Amino acid sequence: MLIVKKFGGTSVADKERIFNVAKRCIEDYRKGNDVVVVLSAMGKFTDVLVQQARDINPNPPKREMDMLYTIGEQQSVALMAMAMDSLGVPAVSLNAFQVKMRTTPAYGNARLIKIETDRIKNELESHKIVLITGFQGVDGMDNYTTLGRGGSDTTAVALAAALHADACEIYTDVEGVYTADPRIVPDAKKLPEITYDEMLDLSSLGAGVLHNRSVEMAKRYGVQLVVRSSLSLAEGTIVKEAVNMEGMLISGVANDKNTARIAVIGLEDQPGVAFKLFNHLANHNINVDIILQSVGRDGTKDISFTVAKDDLKEAVATVERHRNTSLKYSKIDVEENVAKVSIVGAGMMSNPGVAAKMFEALYDAGVNIKMISTSEIRVTVLIDVQQTEKAVNAVHNKFF
Ligand code: ADP
Ligand code: ASP
Ligand code: MG
Repeated sequence: MLIVKKFGGTSVADKERIFNVAKRCIEDYRKGNDVVVVLSAMGKFTDVLVQQARDINPNPPKREMDMLYTIGEQQSVALMAMAMDSLGVPAVSLNAFQVKMRTTPAYGNARLIKIETDRIKNELESHKIVLITGFQGVDGMDNYTTLGRGGSDTTAVALAAALHADACEIYTDVEGVYTADPRIVPDAKKLPEITYDEMLDLSSLGAGVLHNRSVEMAKRYGVQLVVRSSLSLAEGTIVKEAVNMEGMLISGVANDKNTARIAVIGLEDQPGVAFKLFNHLANHNINVDIILQSVGRDGTKDISFTVAKDDLKEAVATVERHRNTSLKYSKIDVEENVAKVSIVGAGMMSNPGVAAKMFEALYDAGVNIKMISTSEIRVTVLIDVQQTEKAVNAVHNKFF
C-alpha cells in the first residue's frame, strides 16, 4: 500500500511530538507500506513568521512573504528525517522545489497545477520514507508560492491523487470532524463519516479542520480522506462521496470571524450596476460571499456584501476607484466586527423549517441577524462578532 500521511503544526510542535509522529510513520513503513509524509510548520511557527515580517514591514511584498513561509515547513521535514534516522529508518526530506510542485503564480493563494512524481517514486523504491513540505509550491518562474493558510492539507490530497495512493490520512489535534468546533462547543459530537459536499461547505464556512481546497481536490479526484488525531488511536472521520446520515437534519455548525461587511449606499437603481460592482472586485481576485440588495427607492438602491478581512482594504479601494465613473453611489459603510455562523447538511433539502429553527435558536439567545444567505444544503447568518460563541452554542444545542 502507498499511504500519504499529513501532520499539522501541533502534531510536530516539539521534540516529543516529532518522535511520536516518526514512530507512527515507521509503524506503517515496517508493515511493508510505501509511506509519504506531509508536514506543516512546527506549532504556531507560521504565525511567528508573519509577526517577524510585519515588524520589519507592515505591508511585506507577497513574494518575500512566501519565501519566508517556506522555511517553516522545511524545518519540520528536515528535523523529522533526522528523528527517523536516529530510529534507524531511512528517510529523505524534500521541499516543493525538489519535488517540483508547480503552482499558479498567485503568492499567498496559489493553486497546484502539477506535481512531478519521479523523484518521490525513486526515493520510495529505495525504501525511504519520503517527507514533503506542505503548504508550499513553485511557480513557472521558480519563485516559491504558498497555497493559503492551512494549505498543507491540500498538498497531502494532491500528492495522494498524483501518486494514486491507497490512503490519505490527515492527522490533527482533534479526533476528527465534529458537529461544531469542539473548542467552542464542548459537547460537539464526532462524525464517523461526512460527504465531500458537506465537508466542503463546512470548511469554506470556517471549519478550519480541513483546508477547503483540499476537500475540493479530494472530491474531484475521488481521494477518500480520514481525519484523525496524532495523539490518540481513536478512529477518525471519513470524508467521502456518499454516507449514511439518515435522520440527521444537519451535519454541523461552522463559524468564521475572518469576514467583514461592505455596504455601498445609494447606487443607481439601473441594469448593470451589480455586474459592474462585482466585476471590478472579481478583476482584483476578491471573493465576495453573502450579497444583499435592498429594495429600490427614489431611483437608488444599496448593495451590501461580505469579503474576507484580508481583502477588505483592497475591496474598498477598488469600489472607491470607480466612484463617479462606472459606479455612482453616495457612500460606503464598512463593518469589521462581524462573524458568520452557518449550518450545513443535506438533510435540509427534504425538511422545510430548518432555517426557521436556526433563527429561533438565535432569537432565544438574543442574537441579532445582520444578513442571511442560503443554499440547498446550508444557511449562513452574519452576526456581531462578540456573540459568536453564544450563537454557535445556541444553534448547536437546537439541532444536536
Ligand atoms: P492542523 O495544524 O493539524 O492542520 P488546524 O488548527 O488547522 O490543525 O485544524 C484543527 C482545528 O480545527 C481544531 O483544533 C479545531 O479547533 C478546529 N475546528 C473547527 N471546526 C471544527 C470541526 N467542525 N471539527 C473539528 N475541528 C474543528
Ligand atoms: N503552516 C501553514 C499555516 O500555518 C500551513 C498549514 O499549517 O497547513 O497556515
Ligand atoms: Mg490545518
